[in-house]
Amino acid sequence: MGTAATVTNWAGNIVFRARRFHRPDSVAELQELVAGSERIRAVGTGHSFSPIADTTADQVSLAGLPPITAIDPDAATVTVSAGLRYGEVTGLLHEAGFALPNLGSLPHISIAGACSTGTHGSGVGNGALATAVSAVELVGADGELRTVRRGDVDFPGSVVALGGLGIVTALTLDLRPTFGMRQWVYEGLRGFDDVEEALASAYSVSLFTYWTGPEFDQVWVKQRDTEPEPPARWLGATRADGPRHMVRGVDPVHCTAQLGEPGPWHERLPHFRLEFTPSSGDELQSEYLIPRAALVDALHALDRIRDTIAPVLQVCEVRSIAADDLWLSLAHDRDSHALHFTWIADTNAVLPVVAAVEAALEPFAARPHWGKVFTTGPEAVRALWPRLPDVERLLRRHDPAGKFRNDMLDHYLPG
Ligand SMILES: Cc1cc2nc3c(=O)[nH]c(=O)nc-3n(C[C@H](O)[C@H](O)[C@H](O)COP(=O)(O)OP(=O)(O)OC[C@H]3O[C@@H](n4cnc5c(N)ncnc54)[C@H](O)[C@@H]3O)c2cc1C
Repeated sequence: MGTAATVTNWAGNIVFRARRFHRPDSVAELQELVAGSERIRAVGTGHSFSPIADTTADQVSLAGLPPITAIDPDAATVTVSAGLRYGEVTGLLHEAGFALPNLGSLPHISIAGACSTGTHGSGVGNGALATAVSAVELVGADGELRTVRRGDVDFPGSVVALGGLGIVTALTLDLRPTFGMRQWVYEGLRGFDDVEEALASAYSVSLFTYWTGPEFDQVWVKQRDTEPEPPARWLGATRADGPRHMVRGVDPVHCTAQLGEPGPWHERLPHFRLEFTPSSGDELQSEYLIPRAALVDALHALDRIRDTIAPVLQVCEVRSIAADDLWLSLAHDRDSHALHFTWIADTNAVLPVVAAVEAALEPFAARPHWGKVFTTGPEAVRALWPRLPDVERLLRRHDPAGKFRNDMLDHYLPG
């Protein structure tokens, strides 16, 4: 036990209120801690912008647990310690001849923290990162270890569980053979007519706009190396003649290699390199997932309020996520596109714009990202996730005294 090592989240917009901070060295020590605590929350790498990891009681980091990466080549799975960051695992997988299907924009986030909030990358055929999980090992409210496996009735509610089911100690992830990729950046995709074609054009595609007009300033195309090299001009956009950062005026030195330079999956799927911190945390983020068919209408709705958005925006990104069956996943039961906003680091200036974006996206059943800034109320959230009551029942059954709850769970999953 000690004072809070993680005093704030990464962005600094959430000051953790934990009375005690713990960093156990072993699973046995963690079990003892959980058994003896009245209220406890895990924190991963603290990259969430919402107060989802906050608590007024015990907060625990798993970063001190032994860093296990156990690959089973026959089953094509890996079992990892939950506190590991993706970037600490992906190179080992590649060296062993394996890959994960997808990654988020940065490799610095913990695997358990990312899966708990439904974190995703892009690609019309790629599910959220939690869809690679086939088993979750966790310490329950009684301090006992248990494992929930794909196929168990509780499994779809146990992967994206917002930290409410227990402290996850290990995750088993599906692997596929390692693969090579190339990344290209295009500039100047005008209008919205071609956005769906652009997003479906490669393994993972991101569109970036500053909302200064109905256009995408950059298109990041992450191809598998088996896909044909794209032309110099495409959909009216031009291939960039040098590396680009998606935020105007920022040095692209932190970004993964572009210009078609071949490289392994884990060095092209994220936007940012592990060895660099992508920024000082000088930003806030919000993100909303909408059904895929709503994209063009939703873009027009945002375009109508672009004069409100642009002054507090660093960059807006559009990505794609395939549907899954995880009850609290952002892409639960629907193929989705994600509308992401990197804001300036000024909560007072940003919150009214977040509310305006939510009002503009309201007709499209936009699900807010659990780990980002949003103001959507609990009733609206309940209507957006039809299986939310099942998660409430699951939490109540496994944690009747509310040991793993916090204010955010009480607000959105009070049942
Ligand atoms: C620069 C930046 C880029 C980002 N890019 C993306 C992106 O590309 N795609 C995307 O979808 N999101 C993105 N995010 C959001 C981020 O992926 C999520 O907020 C993610 O949850 C952060 O992981 P973390 O380890 O920091 O979790 P934390 O913020 O520390 O915790 C998140 C939740 O996980 C729970 N948790 C953590 N560890 C455990 C555990 N061992 N057992 C049980 N519960 C646990 C916590 O209790 C909390 O509820 C980005 C965030 C930043 C700051």
